[in-house]
Amino acid sequence: MGWTDVLYDCIDGEVLLEASLVGLGFGLSSLFYHFRNKHDAAAKHLKDASLLSINDDLLNEVKYAGDNFQYVALSGKVQPDAASLRSRYFPDREGVIINFITEERKEVWAKYSHVWYESENELSNIIDTVPFSLKGADNATVHVVDPLQSSWCSDTLDTINKEYRSPNSSVMDSIIGIVSGDRVKGYTDTEKMLQVGTKLLGIGELFIEDGLLKLKKPIHGEYILTKSSHADVIRHFQSKSKLWKVLGILSFAATVIGLYFAGKRFWEKYKSAVEYAKMREELAEVRQQRQATRRTTGNMSERNLGQDDTCIICLTNPRECVILDCGHICACVDCVEILPSPKTCPICRSDIKKIVPLFHA
Ligand SMILES: [Zn+2]
Ligand SMILES: [Zn+2]
Repeated sequence: MGWTDVLYDCIDGEVLLEASLVGLGFGLSSLFYHFRNKHDAAAKHLKDASLLSINDDLLNEVKYAGDNFQYVALSGKVQPDAASLRSRYFPDREGVIINFITEERKEVWAKYSHVWYESENELSNIIDTVPFSLKGADNATVHVVDPLQSSWCSDTLDTINKEYRSPNSSVMDSIIGIVSGDRVKGYTDTEKMLQVGTKLLGIGELFIEDGLLKLKKPIHGEYILTKSSHADVIRHFQSKSKLWKVLGILSFAATVIGLYFAGKRFWEKYKSAVEYAKMREELAEVRQQRQATRRTTGNMSERNLGQDDTCIICLTNPRECVILDCGHICACVDCVEILPSPKTCPICRSDIKKIVPLFHA
């Protein structure tokens, strides 16, 4: 038996599971590293973004700058291009993005732990938006293209109103609720709004279309609308990058440790498999000897076998080998061979380290 065959024999479900876990660990580490790189690149990119102020000169500057102003950061006050949106609750409050969320709060009966627990789920999430621009000095404006595509967009929304409604349910509904283990407690309506006049920082690609300055999602780098400062945005990406780096290092270290122990276990398994292979070869030798003896002496020896000489397992063949380390002489090689692994002595149950053929003088 070649060592490669032994190696293949050692590969079982457990080894495959460990190998896939190690693979998964390395995969995760590289994924974390990828996130780290992404945030790092975004932070560097953001640092390189030209900080511009919105004023009457900006249009000309951009016109003659060519590609220099591809990625920019500029801040201005939110101003609708036409009619604005109005709050459902406070009609005097105007905005350009309104997000209306309805959540259902209910109690659900847990079958196993026998308690009611509260659960919340979103029933609807509607976003309305109207075209708007960022207004700087001299009434100069930069139109914001597809604001909902920007990251951090939700952070720019102020909560205008949060209201709790109880369900208008009948007594019958409550009974059905208790029986079915699912009763509605109420609803929460939340209205959020990007209000007209909010000072916003926009980071993206600046371009001119129909003689107007517009900001859009860049091909490279992040598209950001935020109430934070440019420096804060950079810091945010830097800290994210650090976090992913730490996670990457931790998962890599855990994987290497896992690989070490899995490798060690596999090596021990392989060593004992090699021992067993050797043992099997020895058993085969003993069997050959027996056949040779039978050819010369017929079945004489077998006929003369007393109870003390027959294998305690098959009660047919002679006892042919010494089991080490315990030293028991109790079985024939055929029976020792078919003992389930890990092989133990049929008499004292100690591990079989080696099998030595028995020679009758
Ligand atoms: Zn036997
Ligand atoms: Zn024994």
